[in-house]
Amino acid sequence: MDDYFNYIDHNSIKLAELATEIGDYSCAIEHYSKAIDRLHSYQGDRTAPIAMASRFIQQIKELNSKISFGKEILKYDSWKLSKTAFIKGNQCIKYLYLDKFKKTERTPFSKEKENLFKEGHSFEAWVRETEFPDGINIKDKVGHFAYFNAYTNYLINQAQKQIIYEASIIENEVLVMCDILIKQENGHIDIYEIKNNTALKDVFKTDLALQYAICKKRFNDKLNSFNIILRNDYESRNWKIIDLSSDLEKQTAEVNLKIEALKSVLKNNEPQIDMGLHCYNPYQCEFIEYCQKKC
Ligand code: SF4
Repeated sequence: MDDYFNYIDHNSIKLAELATEIGDYSCAIEHYSKAIDRLHSYQGDRTAPIAMASRFIQQIKELNSKISFGKEILKYDSWKLSKTAFIKGNQCIKYLYLDKFKKTERTPFSKEKENLFKEGHSFEAWVRETEFPDGINIKDKVGHFAYFNAYTNYLINQAQKQIIYEASIIENEVLVMCDILIKQENGHIDIYEIKNNTALKDVFKTDLALQYAICKKRFNDKLNSFNIILRNDYESRNWKIIDLSSDLEKQTAEVNLKIEALKSVLKNNEPQIDMGLHCYNPYQCEFIEYCQKKC
């Protein structure tokens, strides 16, 4: 591999290209500038990084000439909890705390677990391509997590129908990413969460209840349906779609209380929690070795 490869800030370049495409010229200039700074820190003797930086400098000149026609679209966002953090906190508040403040103490996932993740992603991709083709994948398109919400919002505000993968919504300082979000021409929103499983497990309901509460806050009456997609069996790749909207609606108030409780865990010291069955349920905690050392 060329020795300058690590000096290419792919995420900033991707974001700058997207910002140029949709007319947010300030954002494009900011991120081309970041990419140039990184390229300029290269000390080797290859000319490719210099050529690339020159190209971006030229882009910035062109963008500066039309900056007065630009719009601020890709706003930087931050959040306190993600869906994954919520699920971990629901299992054990110490798990949530350690996951935020002591990441290096995590035990890496086993090969088996990684294979399960891969299988899940493969099923997810299959459902998307077959049932909801030609969507825009926010993760692939944007590059920087902090801009996912803004770009999702931009797409949702377009007049035509949109199919969005990894649609990212932040409300109440919580980030959720929906596997598939369809914005219909009449503005109605349908959301689909894909699980590589045949059973509607309790942990899936917790996951969906959070997503529903956040999406409901964002879309209110425009939220038309909130669905889970489950496998029919493990032999075929067929699936079923279940609309859980009315069940999830009943849990909204409880979820909102839980969000506040989990946010307050992150403002305090490490919780003192004894180990027990909850360390393995619904998922094996990544901090078992850490907690065992402390016992
Ligand atoms: S090992 Fe158990 S007690 Fe420790 S953080 Fe994980 S779930 Fe909580």
